[in-house]
Amino acid sequence: MTSVLGMLQEKNAGPVRLFEPRAINRPGTTTVFEEYPVIEADASQISQYDSSETEVEEFVHIEVMEDANGDEKFPAQRAVDDNTLDDEPKWFTLSNMTLPKTQNAIVTPVVGQTLNQVQQTIPVQLPQQGEVVVKMIWTGICGSDVLFSVGPQPGYCGIDHIAGHEGIGRIVMSTDPSLLGSPVAARYLAAYCRSCQACRDGLPESCPMQTNFPKHHNGTFQEYLTVSIESLMKLPQWIFDGSSTVSPGQYTAGLCSGAAAGRALKKINPRHGDVVVITGVAGGIGHIAGMLARNVYGAKVIGVDWGWKYNALGPMAAKIFDAFVPAPEEGVSWASFQAKIEEECTKLRGPAVSSRKADGLVIAVSTKVGYQNIGDYVRDGGSIVCVGVPKEKINVSMPLSDLVERALRIQGVLMGGWEESYEVLEYIRRGMITPIVTNISLQEVPSRMKAFAHHGNLGKIVVQIQDVL
Ligand SMILES: [Zn+2]
Ligand SMILES: [Zn+2]
Repeated sequence: MTSVLGMLQEKNAGPVRLFEPRAINRPGTTTVFEEYPVIEADASQISQYDSSETEVEEFVHIEVMEDANGDEKFPAQRAVDDNTLDDEPKWFTLSNMTLPKTQNAIVTPVVGQTLNQVQQTIPVQLPQQGEVVVKMIWTGICGSDVLFSVGPQPGYCGIDHIAGHEGIGRIVMSTDPSLLGSPVAARYLAAYCRSCQACRDGLPESCPMQTNFPKHHNGTFQEYLTVSIESLMKLPQWIFDGSSTVSPGQYTAGLCSGAAAGRALKKINPRHGDVVVITGVAGGIGHIAGMLARNVYGAKVIGVDWGWKYNALGPMAAKIFDAFVPAPEEGVSWASFQAKIEEECTKLRGPAVSSRKADGLVIAVSTKVGYQNIGDYVRDGGSIVCVGVPKEKINVSMPLSDLVERALRIQGVLMGGWEESYEVLEYIRRGMITPIVTNISLQEVPSRMKAFAHHGNLGKIVVQIQDVL
């Protein structure tokens, strides 16, 4: 058990403040808080205090116990001295922590047709009622951040834009001390109404009331994120507790790329031994999709990507796919590329199964060429899931006979939800999938984002923003 006793003092002049004891029991934990909210009173009413004293002491008594799992809750301290008698919320920060006034962030001062990101020192935004401050510790970077940071697109901030939508950190400032220290994630989809038709149909990304990072809230490329608590996803305590060999940075791969890969595989739902082709297999979504298909569904995976990326993967390639076919470069005919895919299908299925095309296709590339002739990859009745989004507007087309007579299924996945994120985080914790990550610093974000614009990144790029608390 940890006990914190804070004492504030003020002169006994004019109205003074007394304290009304209140106990708060939080459901699902044994943590008990006692606090003494301020009420206003005349000095003559404070007889319960030693009247010989000319000063009145204010007590803020917060008792913090270990929860049922033995996890110690962080002790809290009052963040703001109570010099006012109004209804301002009472803010708490983590013990021994003072919120800095400024922070480092990757900002796009003016959003234009090309990436224009620079590191800047900007103010830490003080929270409003209902908000918390999160000390960001890791964030992933994602190809979508390139799309969000050029334009400007309708609705997105055109000046002083802060991108980033897959970050993890700890809450360090809140009106609710029980939240302090809690690990949380900021994902693209922040808040949604949960009551409209789209939300009830499991499509919160179509909710008209939604807010998201970085459209409505500044993104995760900053040291201190100030945002409403309802916009954050609660994370398990083990994310930061060091109980496994997994770097917390790897978990960021489960928030956006991993969740999208997870939902794409759910749409295909391959059976054990089925063959799934994944294009863009060396990218952030593609490589996790490959691991999920193999290690969760027991499927066989044919990876497609540029030859140089295959070479760069080295021995890691064996963890992602069973066979690799280079994307058709100049001089390689589409027919010979498809013949190679079928040849690998035959090898993976073995001689007992008559030759046929793949059972499923996940398109995780964001290039126009990746969406050409997509019906050629899969068998009759096969499933095609589109995940990668090219920057330019394109149409997906195929002969109607393929769709009707071959009974092909085509579906789109914008992103996964909390459910898929939690599942992928757990797979990572158990070692069932090991995201291939490149750790970078916050300062390196602009150059890495430029590499994204040219499809030059491998696996998942994750940014260590600050040390773990
Ligand atoms: Zn993303
Ligand atoms: Zn809704």
